[in-house]
Amino acid sequence: MRQIALYGKGGIGKSTTSANLSAAFAENGLDVMQIGCDPKHDSTRMLMHGRWIPTVLEQMYERKDLEMDDVIFTGFGGVRCVEAGGPEPGIGCAGRGIIATFQLLEKMKALNGDVVVYDVLGDVVCGGFAMPMRDGYAQEVYLVTSGELMSLYAANNICKAIARLSERSTARCRLGGVICNSKNMDNERELVAEFSRLIGSKMVQFVPRDKAVQAAEVNQMTVIEHAPASPQADVYRGLAKTILANDDLRIPTALDLDELEKLARAYL
Ligand code: SF4
Repeated sequence: MRQIALYGKGGIGKSTTSANLSAAFAENGLDVMQIGCDPKHDSTRMLMHGRWIPTVLEQMYERKDLEMDDVIFTGFGGVRCVEAGGPEPGIGCAGRGIIATFQLLEKMKALNGDVVVYDVLGDVVCGGFAMPMRDGYAQEVYLVTSGELMSLYAANNICKAIARLSERSTARCRLGGVICNSKNMDNERELVAEFSRLIGSKMVQFVPRDKAVQAAEVNQMTVIEHAPASPQADVYRGLAKTILANDDLRIPTALDLDELEKLARAYL
């Protein structure tokens, strides 16, 4: 079973990328589970045709005898969707949501299949963002970033976390690469490729900004489902293929802030 985690700054497009990636894996006949860990708990919404599924944390507050059907919902392509959930924005759960989710899924023996995709917020706002990496769940991390300084900054912070956690025996996380989710900035592809090189990794996919994404979202679907023949759907299929073939996993070296800013200036 491959356990793949997408990390990145809030609002960078992780959930869109994760959901399309899961849909592309499912299209290949793989048994896929997607677990969202984000205070917005909307990671799996497009796979669920706009439905906000109840979160594990919410369900646990209500009752103790949870069954699989209470927390695992089947979405597009048979993808099993789970939302770890979280508290009110700004309060933070220090990882309780995601820990409880892992424990429950393990107890139910439901953490299985060909691929588990974790969609995890990369800002350190909720204090639990390292959990999937720390406890050996997320073995391959992909950073989702644009060329904007703040999203590179968040990606760089996650590199620090991977490097630190890789020293622990329970953590097996390694960086698989960087996904550039374009904001249509000048020189963005070159900037993110160079950032990837400097941290000791590589850019595995450049995802262009495309209105197919918005069109799919307003129709409450992934691009793979809404516009399967579009070039954007092929971009996500390409990403899925690259990830499946990728065995080049590294411990990254984070940049210091001066280096990061200098890099961003050089590509303006
Ligand atoms: S750690 Fe908790 S609050 Fe943070 S995103 Fe995950 S479930 Fe939500």
